[in-house]
Amino acid sequence: MRIKRKLVKLLWAAIIVSLPFLKIGGESAIRFDIPLLTLYFFGTDIRIHEFFIVLIAAIFICLLFILITLLFGRMWCGWLCPQTVLVDFTAFTDKFKKGFLYRLLSLFLILLISAVVGANLIWYFVSPYEFFGHLLKWEISQTIWRFWIVLTAIIFLNLVFIRRKFCVTVCPYSKLQSAMYDNKTLVIAFDPSKSDDCIKCMSCVKKCPVEIDIRQGLHQACIYCGECIDACKDIMKREGKDGDSLINYFFGLPGEKGRIVRQGVVMVGFVTLAFLIFLIYLLLKET
Ligand code: SF4
Ligand code: SF4
Repeated sequence: MRIKRKLVKLLWAAIIVSLPFLKIGGESAIRFDIPLLTLYFFGTDIRIHEFFIVLIAAIFICLLFILITLLFGRMWCGWLCPQTVLVDFTAFTDKFKKGFLYRLLSLFLILLISAVVGANLIWYFVSPYEFFGHLLKWEISQTIWRFWIVLTAIIFLNLVFIRRKFCVTVCPYSKLQSAMYDNKTLVIAFDPSKSDDCIKCMSCVKKCPVEIDIRQGLHQACIYCGECIDACKDIMKREGKDGDSLINYFFGLPGEKGRIVRQGVVMVGFVTLAFLIFLIYLLLKET
């Protein structure tokens, strides 16, 4: 699972970085051109007076998030959230204690990553081809410089000082998630039927990036990273128990029968689908 998660995160990061470079109909696949007040979206030009389409798209994305959360809980947080992806890619900072030189090198690498991520955000507004053309001639406008520096500074401070604290304190999605769950939502939990097999090695707790003990029950801070599952799996393998983790994914509580199709899922799914069809219709009308 650890490898799968890494591959998914790498693929996701590659998509986010490369999307502005991808050209469809001579324009970026997704980019909002500020001077022209036009959103380029996979070959469709949406002008400012047609922005009700963006509103429909925003409603669709919110509904999709509710549906995914209702079904799979915080899978987004553990597998795809940009904060998780960036924190994982900069996990080398966890070895800060290794010494001054290591710390300095880590900070420099984080600064470089922050600058690339900051530039990547700008490419969703300024074509990356234009951006690099101007950068090579040292002709980037003052406004873009300022934005780039501010974005780089925010990302750098976040990656050095905040990291996972963001997920357990201010993340609005984490605060709303419990309102979107029902009793059959996918959770990561300790299987009490196997509690006799637990050797209390604490490996699952030590590996947890948000420092919780999932054996004590479900916890709002859990970001579904799956580290505890893999940690326990390694221990069980070492103990000769076929690598069967005591912590796992369950639809509903461990021991209960999971059910994907249920009233809430059907209702939210139906409304989401209706918005998707309407959105596709509006986009096709614009092409
Ligand atoms: S309890 Fe497990 S899945 Fe949840 S955050 Fe901790 S390690 Fe990740
Ligand atoms: S890693 Fe597994 S065996 Fe070790 S304390 Fe956690 S649940 Fe128990």
